[in-house]
Amino acid sequence: MESSLKPMDAEQLRENAHKMVDFIADYYKNLEDFPVLSQVKPGYLSELLPDSAPRQPESLQDILDDVQQKIIPGVTHWQSPNYFAYYPSNSSIAGFLGEMLSAGFNIVGFSWITSPAATELEVVVLDWVAKMLKLPNQFLSSGLGGGVIQGTASEAVLVALLAARDKILSRVGKEYLNKLIVYASDQAHSALQKACQIAGIYSENFRLLKAEHTSSYELVPEVLAEAISNDFSSGLIPFFLCATVGTTSSAAVDPLCALGKIAKASDMWFHVDAAYAGSACICPEFRHHIDGVEEADSFGMNAHKWLLTNFDCSLLWVKDRNALIQSLSTNPEFLKNKASQENAVVDFKDWQIPLGRRFRSLKLWMVLRMYGQENLQNYIRNHINLAKQFEELVKSDSRFEVMAPRTFSLVCFRLVPPPNHQDNGYKLNYSLMDAINTSGKIFLSHTVLSGKFVLRLAVGAPLTEEKHVKAAWKVLQNQASTLLGNI
Ligand code: PLP
Repeated sequence: MESSLKPMDAEQLRENAHKMVDFIADYYKNLEDFPVLSQVKPGYLSELLPDSAPRQPESLQDILDDVQQKIIPGVTHWQSPNYFAYYPSNSSIAGFLGEMLSAGFNIVGFSWITSPAATELEVVVLDWVAKMLKLPNQFLSSGLGGGVIQGTASEAVLVALLAARDKILSRVGKEYLNKLIVYASDQAHSALQKACQIAGIYSENFRLLKAEHTSSYELVPEVLAEAISNDFSSGLIPFFLCATVGTTSSAAVDPLCALGKIAKASDMWFHVDAAYAGSACICPEFRHHIDGVEEADSFGMNAHKWLLTNFDCSLLWVKDRNALIQSLSTNPEFLKNKASQENAVVDFKDWQIPLGRRFRSLKLWMVLRMYGQENLQNYIRNHINLAKQFEELVKSDSRFEVMAPRTFSLVCFRLVPPPNHQDNGYKLNYSLMDAINTSGKIFLSHTVLSGKFVLRLAVGAPLTEEKHVKAAWKVLQNQASTLLGNI
């Protein structure tokens, strides 16, 4: 029987996609009406949906009605102007249009031949962003290095670690895997721990060095040097250092110059994770935070966090692309083709974990072209100024204290516990955060610094303006008054 289904009929696409764009535009128009943090209980959705797929087609309108009534209540609104949790994950019209185009082409660009434009555009835009960040020329595609779009910073650090592991093992012998040592500060993202688990690094060989309040949560070079020296003395092989520019807890910036020199002196691979704060370094006044990147072997930053490019778009540059390729390339018969065999092209399948890959460079290209460097710089500056204003507000209220230096758009703070208060303010601040997040008015998240429960307010959602930051502060103050009044 002939199927009546026309899954990609151009006119049906036009009609339905217009409806979808209207629906999404209305969503953005009404975004502030929704509680920022979803208020549903676990398992809420299975009670609202049938337990098997429909046998017959349903209309787009019926489905959109369900999205409105059943899905949106279970959405936490990352694009809300009142979203201040974790780090931002930006969307923008340009990023959205790029995603749309990518969904339209729906190519799977693992090798150059599978869509030359996808590979070549990625090479071009990664060079563009490298120049915006003033990365050393070795990271550009014209030399031995180059950039690639990974899904996440976790994948970026994993592939860097795999390249570094295989490079050292090819020198010392595979049997030395159990001697390989990885270093980072205890403020590094847990993505590194996961990468070590996947890469077979022995858990006892993963060194998370203490970064204390006294060093503003930055990794102290002398601490690293001592750890490396002890490990060498024990016959171990230090081989990988991950420094962070903009740690997840407090946006601390590890001193790249000094750390990089130590790593180089010990012949180690030096990876810089600037997942969040890397975007700020496109501004000349913040570029100094990645001074020392010259020492790095790999550098990663997420354009999907704070550079208006819809998730996912994690940028990774390496100085030696062959190190990546040697670790990750495979060459099965069914993928062989003339261009690859002649070594005339980049095949990004050999720079990443999966084979398949989306046309992600389109959205980044559209962001860079539709907004331009100056607008992007001002976008970042505005958020940093708003965070500065929020920090001033916190400082102006003696019931609160700032808990770590503010460098970018993250403010770490807490309510000062009354003297001799049980648990040093842990419960008090947890209650403050919980009450605020369940109010749905704003959403912020927390960390623990030096054993203290700390609230994190990260400015960075594309729609956030001064009035939202001021309103967030009022919400915090009011809730603080209620809580302190009940002690
Ligand atoms: N590194 C840092 C410094 C981060 O802040 C984050 C997430 O916030 C990550 C890595 C992990 O990012 P991803 O979700 O892209 O793996």
